[in-house]
Amino acid sequence: MPSAKIAVIEGDGIGKEVVPEGVKVVEAAARVFGIDLTWDHLDWGCDHHARLGRMMPENGLDRIAGHDAIFLGAIGWPTVSDVESLWTLLMPIRRNFQQYVNLRPVRLFDGVASPLARPGAIDFYIVRENNEGEYSEVGGRMFPDTDQEMVIQDTVLTRFGCDRVMKFAFELARKRKRRLTSATKSNGIIHTMPFWDERFRAVAGDFPDIATEQYHIDILTAHFVRRPSSFDVVVASNLFGDILSDLGPAVTGTIGIAPSANLNPERRFPSMFEPVHGSAPDIAGKNIANPIGQIWSGAMMLEHLGAKDAAGAIVAAIERVLASGENLTPDMGGNASTTALGQAIADAVSIHP
Ligand code: ATP
Ligand code: MG
Repeated sequence: MPSAKIAVIEGDGIGKEVVPEGVKVVEAAARVFGIDLTWDHLDWGCDHHARLGRMMPENGLDRIAGHDAIFLGAIGWPTVSDVESLWTLLMPIRRNFQQYVNLRPVRLFDGVASPLARPGAIDFYIVRENNEGEYSEVGGRMFPDTDQEMVIQDTVLTRFGCDRVMKFAFELARKRKRRLTSATKSNGIIHTMPFWDERFRAVAGDFPDIATEQYHIDILTAHFVRRPSSFDVVVASNLFGDILSDLGPAVTGTIGIAPSANLNPERRFPSMFEPVHGSAPDIAGKNIANPIGQIWSGAMMLEHLGAKDAAGAIVAAIERVLASGENLTPDMGGNASTTALGQAIADAVSIHP
C-alpha cells in the first residue's frame, strides 16, 4: 500500500475528540513510512440525525463503498434511542460490508495499573462474531397490554457464519500460541449453542495443531478475572463477544485503550476500525477522554491495509509513552488531556519510529 482512501466518521461525544488524535498519529506514521492517505470526513451520527432526521444519508453505504477502510469514533447520544443509532448506522455498515469478524486485542501495558492484584502478563485476542447470532431482528411482541403479553427474540446462527469466523480464529491462533478458547452456553441455550459447539469441533478438525478448550460464558468471565494471562485467542458469538470485550479491557486497566477491527477478511469490502468504548456522554467535551483505543484502532487499520511497519511503530510508541508514566489521562490515573496524550504518541512515532 503506498496509498489508501479512508472514510472518517467521528460520530458523537468523545468520538469527536479521540478521532482527531487517531488521525494525527496515523498521519505521523504514514509520513515516516511514505504512505499517502486521503481522509474523507463524513459528519454522520446523532447531530446529523438532529438536522436531517437520520443517522446517515440514504445512500450512505454507497458513499463509503469505494474506500479502503472506515475509521470510526463512537456512535450514540442520549437524544437518539440506542436502538435507532445502532441499527441505522453501525449494524448496516458491519453487515453490508460483511465485516463478520470483530477482532479485539486485550493487553496489559507497562505503566497502566490493572485492578487485579497479580495479573501477570495479559496479551490475547477476542474474536467476536459480528454479523449474526443473538443480535438479530427476528422476534417480536405478542398479546401486548394483556396478561398474556410475551416477547420472543431469536438467535440466528448459520453454518456458513459460524465456520468463517471460527476459521479466522483458528488461523489467528496458528500465528500465535496455538491455543483457542470458545465461549458457549450449551447447557442453558439448548438449540443455538450446541450448534456453535458442533461447528467449533468440525472446524477444529482442519486445525489439529491448535489446542482447543471451551467454557460456558458464566465461568469464562470468572476465568477472565482469575487468570487472564492464560488466554491466547478467544472466539465467541456476537453477544458473548460483546460482553467479553468490555470485561477484557476492564481487567487491563481501562476501556479507553481498547481497539477493535470490524474485518472483512477477504477484503472484498472496506473494513472498519473503531475503539471498543462508546461516546461516553459523562466525560464528553472535557478533553479528558483516553485517545489510545482510537489510536490503536488506527494501527490495526494500517496493518490491515498492509502497512505492518507503520502499525508496529504506532503500537511501540503507545508502549513507550505509557511506560514513561507521563501524559496519562485520568482513567489511567494521570491528569493529562486527550490532546496532550495524542500529541505525545504522535511525537514518539515521528521521533523514534
Ligand atoms: P456503548 O453503548 O456505545 O458501548 P456505553 O454506554 O457502554 O457505550 P461508554 O461510552 O463506552 O458506554 O462508556 C462507559 C464508561 O467508560 C463511561 O463511564 C465512560 O466515561 C468511560 N469511558 C469510555 N471511553 C473512555 C475513554 N476513551 N477514556 C476514558 N473513559 C472512557
Ligand atoms: Mg458498551
